[in-house]
Amino acid sequence: MTTSEPESRTEATEAAPELLKAKGRVLSTLENDGSRRWIKPRVSSGSLHTRRMWFAAFLIFVFTVLPFVKVGGRPLLLIDILNREFIIFGLRLLPTDTLLMALLMVSTFLGIFFFTALFGRVWCGWACPQTVYMEFVFRPIERLFEGTWGRGGAPRGKVAGWKTAAKFAVYFVISFYLAHTFLAYFVGVDKLITWIWRSTPLEHPIAFGIIALVTVAMLFDFGYFREQTCIIACPYGRFQSVLLDRQSSIVAYHAQRGEPRGKLKKKSAELPILAPQGDCIDCGNCVTTCPTGIDIRDGLQLECINCTQCIDACDAVMTKIGKPIGLIRYSSQARDEGERWHLLRPRVIVYPLILTVLLSVFGILVATRKSFEGVMLRNPGLPFQVEANGEVVNSFRLALTNRSDEADTIRIVGVEPSTIRFELTTDSFEVPANGDRTEGIRLFAPKNAFVGGRLPARILLESSRGDERAVSCTIVGP
Ligand code: SF4
Ligand code: SF4
Repeated sequence: MTTSEPESRTEATEAAPELLKAKGRVLSTLENDGSRRWIKPRVSSGSLHTRRMWFAAFLIFVFTVLPFVKVGGRPLLLIDILNREFIIFGLRLLPTDTLLMALLMVSTFLGIFFFTALFGRVWCGWACPQTVYMEFVFRPIERLFEGTWGRGGAPRGKVAGWKTAAKFAVYFVISFYLAHTFLAYFVGVDKLITWIWRSTPLEHPIAFGIIALVTVAMLFDFGYFREQTCIIACPYGRFQSVLLDRQSSIVAYHAQRGEPRGKLKKKSAELPILAPQGDCIDCGNCVTTCPTGIDIRDGLQLECINCTQCIDACDAVMTKIGKPIGLIRYSSQARDEGERWHLLRPRVIVYPLILTVLLSVFGILVATRKSFEGVMLRNPGLPFQVEANGEVVNSFRLALTNRSDEADTIRIVGVEPSTIRFELTTDSFEVPANGDRTEGIRLFAPKNAFVGGRLPARILLESSRGDERAVSCTIVGP
């Protein structure tokens, strides 16, 4: 048990039928009888904790402010799923940018693989919103209400019901605020502010429903599920075994130095010769401070989020007993086994190489992107008709998208092959800034132009800015 858990839990475990009892602890968050093991980690104030605290404050500021930041009138980051529009660092991507989005997604995953191979789970311990908000917002609030402010651990006595209710009331307010911040990334701050101040939930039931749902999800996560998100639910955590190699940075216990562990003994005249003992005095401080409830001395574990609390805890103990700090420290599996550390190894070379290729292709595609897009959509109904003069006619809709921040006029300058003629209600279309427009278009082709009932065609478009684009389609005939 991490802290002074109620003894009844242990009794319940003892009383469990033999068949139901696990041989040992299955998960750090479960008792042997399968019930939840509530973890109330102690605070280990040290240099790493202080740095993480400042970094968390900075990140909370960034997470909050980011949706408000605009570049050239556009949000820096927007994932507008409803309108199928994504803005990443000012770059606007539409559903037609499938290749760009695929490149970006694969590059993101490769970037994560590369970063993890080098620095291990630094993201989990230092920058993941789950850790940042759990360890530096929700747990401090809990400690405030449970009377363990600044030290952590289990409360000394029973916590009054009103304090628990007050704690959850504060949790609710923060979760509600976080839900709005979260939603701002998906709808944009302008729309969100309009929804908040100028409408009722009934006018925007979906948005209101999403906010309510996200608030409840946050409350559940930070109030109940907690470290289990990292241990059970997070896919990044589950993939660690394949993302790390023996040279990757990890938080590790220096077993050669620490073992055999044992309680600190004083030399005395009666006991002048002591059995050899490692530096670990088995005080358990590294265990009681761990937010995922594990013992780092058991070796590398999936549950370790590299939060460095055990480093601070152990360094404080070492300082107290006059031993060098670093019994628990940033290390690697290879270093722990006495091997030399190598920066260059296959995955650290291959990942950046592929990443460079992908990002170069991405950059070229973005740089050569046209200011507008067009696509031919076949009208439902009869695929073709034959006119009295023998021409075959197909009906389409020409869907145009203007990517620029200014309205644009787009016109058809030709059709290939030239034997095809087109019929349109207007010669040119004005497409609004960052908007779409769809127009009906009929294509006429001579009967003898078809091979196997098909005739590939290209519509040549030109914008008022001078950008040109060819849109392909297939005309079908007899
Ligand atoms: S805090 Fe250090 S000395 Fe104490 S049990 Fe952990 S490793 Fe051993
Ligand atoms: S073992 Fe240490 S670094 Fe890993 S989660 Fe626990 S306290 Fe954090």
